Order: sequence, then structure tokens, then C-alpha cells
Amino acid sequence: MARVFTPRYCAACGGQLLAPLAASGGPPLVCGRCGLGSYLDPKLAVATVLFLPDQSVVLLRRAQRDQAFGRWILPGGHVDRGEELPSAALREVAEETGLTACVQGLLGVYSYPGNPLVLVVYTALAQPGPLLTSRESLEIRAFGHQEIPWDELGYLSTGQALRQALGLPPEPVAP
Ligand SMILES: [Zn+2]
Repeated sequence: MARVFTPRYCAACGGQLLAPLAASGGPPLVCGRCGLGSYLDPKLAVATVLFLPDQSVVLLRRAQRDQAFGRWILPGGHVDRGEELPSAALREVAEETGLTACVQGLLGVYSYPGNPLVLVVYTALAQPGPLLTSRESLEIRAFGHQEIPWDELGYLSTGQALRQALGLPPEPVAP
């Protein structure tokens, strides 16, 4: 998933956006030139727990250099404005795995304090076909349920969604 930036310039006039001095309950950023307030909306992303017909799960080893670099993640990415969510999930599956799939259902919605991303995760069943890596992955592999690399997953949401999809209890949170 692409990084999320905080905007620096007003969308209306191009003036510099300033953080208000006091938390007033108003918009988090205000234009220093025209005074327009800018609200920072969450960013919507989709991911898919993708099952092959033998019930193995397809994971990608992330090629983008962020905190999840080299670790295993679900196929997924940002939703385009106006795009239907299941279509976005299947588009990302096709782009990142080379597979055609059918959405089975909504698995869950994942969000975390301080993180602008809201992640909607679907389960989908892929048609058999060769797994193809894209620019976004170093490696692509199907894992049997006993082979999931739990200690090498990219994000907290990756493990939480996989546990949920495989019917495993949630991992206990460390005190
Ligand atoms: Zn402005």
C-alpha cells in the first residue's frame, strides 16, 4: 500500500495549510491565505484472503521499502474514488497475483489508532492458474494452513485477518 501524506497546500487556492494553534474542534488544517479548513479523511484500502481450490492461501512478499518490506502480506491496495469495493479487491488480486477470483464474502474491517488507513478485507476463491509476481512483490506463494509464516507477516491486520479467515482465535494482546 502506498504511503499516506499529510497535505501541505490548500485545494482551493494553493495557499499553505497551517495546523490551528489550539485544538478547537474545528478542521485540523486551515489555509493561511483563504482560511478554508481542510478535514483529513481516512484512507480506504482493500485486501483479500485469497484461497486456491485446494484451500491454500496466497500471500505476497512485499517489495516496497516500508516497515513491511520483505514480509508476507495479503494482495490489496487503495480503492479508487467511485470504485465498488469488491471490484477493487478483485482488481488488486488480478494485478498482484495474475489470478481471476470470485469474492466469497466480507471478512472484516480493520482500523488502528493513529493510522489513517481503514482496511476492508474480503475472502475470495481463485480459479486455478499460474501465480505471477508483479512489481509490488519479491515472491508469491500459496501456503497450506499449517504453513502460514505467522512470524513473518507484514502488518498487524495481515495476521488478524488470516486468523479470522482460518477460524483461529484472535491472538492474545501482549500486556
Ligand atoms: Zn486556501
